[in-house]
Amino acid sequence: MTKKIGFVGLGLMGNRMAKHLIKAGYETTVYNRTMEKAQELGKTGAAVANSPKEVGERSDVTITMLSDSAAVEEVVLGKNGLLEGAEKGSAIIDCSTISPRVSAKIAEETRKKGVEMLDAPVAGSKKQAEEGILIFLVGGNKQVYEDIQNVLNAMGKGSFYIGENGMGSYMKLVMNMIIAMNLETLAEGLAFGMKAGIDPKLMVEIINSTGAKSGGSEAKGKSMIESNYDTAFALNLMCKDIGLVKEETRNLNVPTPSASIVHEIYTAAKAKGKGEQDYSVIMELIKELAGIK
Ligand code: NAP
Repeated sequence: MTKKIGFVGLGLMGNRMAKHLIKAGYETTVYNRTMEKAQELGKTGAAVANSPKEVGERSDVTITMLSDSAAVEEVVLGKNGLLEGAEKGSAIIDCSTISPRVSAKIAEETRKKGVEMLDAPVAGSKKQAEEGILIFLVGGNKQVYEDIQNVLNAMGKGSFYIGENGMGSYMKLVMNMIIAMNLETLAEGLAFGMKAGIDPKLMVEIINSTGAKSGGSEAKGKSMIESNYDTAFALNLMCKDIGLVKEETRNLNVPTPSASIVHEIYTAAKAKGKGEQDYSVIMELIKELAGIK
């Protein structure tokens, strides 16, 4: 059983995920580009490393939870990166949402050194990370997936094995494409009802009691009508994900006209400086377009 775990990327999600590993009793080594975040975890029992390479040296399994493809490439394959330190036979589990093709390419590089990498992006957000009930969508070597079940179980309530490297990332993009479009549709519906004069609270209650409800309306409907956009999942990151959806659907010749429009809407919200707020802040953009104060 895996004993020594590494964790790189202690942002909104990673910080919460790593805490579960420490609590479960794993010997955990952490690294974050902004060192203060790693030092915080150092106070709760983790060893703090000075580079991803050092994390690799000290770990059987290392989890990465980073912003985007470029960050994962840099942390895993770059100078002083994980692969420089990782022992043959160790594994990397990348939980970030990144390009499936970049993920498969990085895994190909790590395999040359005898290090297997899985893509294991997560379903769930800040709350689910906090509560240790994430769901992992996994691509890569199936034996490695089976071997690291104990690690995933410490941070989540389940996982799905999808297929070879990159397949977990494809599944995650399918999900976020639907979630992004769903929330934008909800924002349009709410703006329509508000302008018609329906009490917003009543409107959300009715949506959530009928076939119009969605994961988005249940999780964010109330906060959207209250203009509360405390970040659980930053709009910048959602914008990145729909951008990846467009790249991959173009590559596979899948027409996704609605996703194109929704990508433009998230891009407009980002251009207006809303990128650091929760992605549900697109409600504000739709309200602005409708002239709703
Ligand atoms: P976040 O709070 O912005 O954290 C991003 C992390 O990546 C930080 O630790 C950041 O380090 C690090 N990082 C970025 N670029 C780096 C680089 N070039 N080198 C080294 N470290 C780098 O984001 P998050 O919300 O935790 O999300 C992390 C990943 O999970 C993203 O791929 C996101 O799409 C995905 N995801 C998020 C959610 C959610 O609800 N938030 C849900 C599912 C999946 P610094 O601290 O130094 O900036």
